[in-house]
Amino acid sequence: VADYVNGEWTDLRIEPYASLQLDPANAALHYGQSIFEGMKAYKNEKGEILIFRGDANARRMNESAARMCMPEIPEEIFMEGLLQLVDLDRNWVPTGKGSSLYIRPFMFAMDNYIGVKPSDTYKFIIFTCPVGAYYSKPVNVKVETKWTRATEGGTGAAKTAGNYAASLYPALQAQKAGYDQLLWTDGKSHSKIEESGTMNVMFDINGTLVTAPTHTGTILKGITRDSVLQLAKDWGKPVEERFLTVSELVEAIENGTLKEAFGTGTAATIAHIAKINIEGKDYTMPSKGPEAFSHKVLAELDGIKYGEIEDPHHWIVK
Ligand code: PMP
Repeated sequence: VADYVNGEWTDLRIEPYASLQLDPANAALHYGQSIFEGMKAYKNEKGEILIFRGDANARRMNESAARMCMPEIPEEIFMEGLLQLVDLDRNWVPTGKGSSLYIRPFMFAMDNYIGVKPSDTYKFIIFTCPVGAYYSKPVNVKVETKWTRATEGGTGAAKTAGNYAASLYPALQAQKAGYDQLLWTDGKSHSKIEESGTMNVMFDINGTLVTAPTHTGTILKGITRDSVLQLAKDWGKPVEERFLTVSELVEAIENGTLKEAFGTGTAATIAHIAKINIEGKDYTMPSKGPEAFSHKVLAELDGIKYGEIEDPHHWIVK
């Protein structure tokens, strides 16, 4: 826990997990200055606990902070907090494949007032929680062409609470119709595929990996996304960071050039997409064979995360 008071972070401390006490006029509750991160630590057979790309999460948190008028949290404070907390968890016992220690850093406004303005005081907290695999089977998704997650000039690239709140209603409708997640499209024409609710999405079209670009500020710059693109480049697999349109996707499914579709995210890691609903019609995706890119990339990421293979990009923090 750390407090931001008088323009600086002070009183860095470890506290037992407990409820927070907030003033009813707490600005984060009313005006939404609240950002967070999600990352995981993995324990290997040697008993080492390895954190995957925590520094990248610290940088992304500061990008979210800048957009939401919140103070930067120095990377050293972020990393020191992470390492101390994970060290306290050293006796945690993983419960099998896919089990990990989820780490949730977050920051929110602490001033108490009625009126829309940035707060002067903030709290930064990190807590951990053991988790199992997020999805135990391939996911079914629905392309959303009515509701919008993010639009240019909005907050889509920030990991801020309100983005998730705004997504709940449309996502719930999709879940009621039997889909795990939405595939969001752009807010203007609803014709370009952006990302899902908790994952970036990638398509293998005739051997080329296609995924939405980040320059429009409408998708979250996923750290898993970045890692997968890096590995694809290392392996000489062609990558195109561009918007795939919904009609291009239908065409690629129908003419057989779509080899696979998958989501990438900290929670889900690599999630094979089994079915996509597009304008009321269900399309079954090609099934994932051992030769699929997603299979290879998942094995590589798992190998790195558990410290079993070389980590050429220095993604692991011990
Ligand atoms: N998009 C959204 C909206 C997300 O919430 C997440 C999960 N953080 C992702 C993409 C994937 O990002 P990452 O790989 O950093 O977990």
